[in-house]
Amino acid sequence: MKLTTSLLASILSIMAVTAAPLEGRDNPHNVEPYQDKHSDIAKLFVRPGDKPGKPLANGPTFGSAEWKALYPPVEKVPDVSTTPASWTAALAAAKKAGGYPSGVPLTTVDASGNYVYPAGVNPAVDPVCSFSAGCNKASDFYNAPDGVLALSFDDGPTAATTNLTDFIKKNQISASHNMIGSHIIEYPTQFQQIIASGGHLSVHTHSHRHNTGLTDEQILAEIGWCMQVIYDNSGLVPKFWRPPYGDLDNRVRFIAENVFNLITLTWNRDSRDWAIPSLFDQTVQKSVDQVRSYVNGSKSPGMNILEHELNDACVTVFETVYRDYVNDGWDIRNLPDALSTGNNVGKGKH
Ligand SMILES: [Zn+2]
Repeated sequence: MKLTTSLLASILSIMAVTAAPLEGRDNPHNVEPYQDKHSDIAKLFVRPGDKPGKPLANGPTFGSAEWKALYPPVEKVPDVSTTPASWTAALAAAKKAGGYPSGVPLTTVDASGNYVYPAGVNPAVDPVCSFSAGCNKASDFYNAPDGVLALSFDDGPTAATTNLTDFIKKNQISASHNMIGSHIIEYPTQFQQIIASGGHLSVHTHSHRHNTGLTDEQILAEIGWCMQVIYDNSGLVPKFWRPPYGDLDNRVRFIAENVFNLITLTWNRDSRDWAIPSLFDQTVQKSVDQVRSYVNGSKSPGMNILEHELNDACVTVFETVYRDYVNDGWDIRNLPDALSTGNNVGKGKH
């Protein structure tokens, strides 16, 4: 084919579009939803005898007692003596490669139940850089692109997942689900409902602890086992994770990003649905009002909002405000699609 001037101009203009920085986006990430199933990271989760991307081909029946026994006990920090040797080796290799933040002490719980660093340590700056203290790194997924609602739900699967996924399917949208590994083991049917709804699968650790109070080896196990249960039962290697409680510092980031190659998700808006009904007199209506104030507010930056599928009250908050998002023109996307804005790969339809 002869390269005409006009064709050349079109090619250059396409290149300009694809190479342009994404507006409103602070984090120049690879926006693939999952990691390559042939990557070194994926190899950490392929069990002996299985082909990459085809896990548990001869494994126990999904949801059975034998299947549950493949994983550490639920709702507890995994015993690090059960950590696969390949994960421990990957942690050692990452530390050897450099960048491990020295001088980040573990937090302990104070009399008020807060996770605090030793006296004299400033958590708001390097080397600690705690999100709870207001510190963000350029690599964190904090702001969403302008006009975009980055839709994700934490703490699933639960009994309330069915309600949420039915609503998501009916409205032809896709959400990311930052899932607790223990909950996948406890609610396997709802895990399958998330996949069937076109949900994007993301990591929220095995037992939902404050990571800054855990040793490196415990953080490795908390993230690794959640990735393992997702991979085993979907064939997909997660690319995104959200630290429980937003409890995040540079030591935690190093393990998530340098060992497991994950994108760390924080948030820039909070629905406070997690507090319903027992904390701070929070109610569904108060959360709805809170979210509506964001919906009607500025679209720059876009919204990366903390929402949950913990119980029906949380799901009701989202279902109540959904029409407001649509009517106000928000572009509703799951996490990788939100980061891909401008490449026209979004699934958000409304
Ligand atoms: Zn959570």
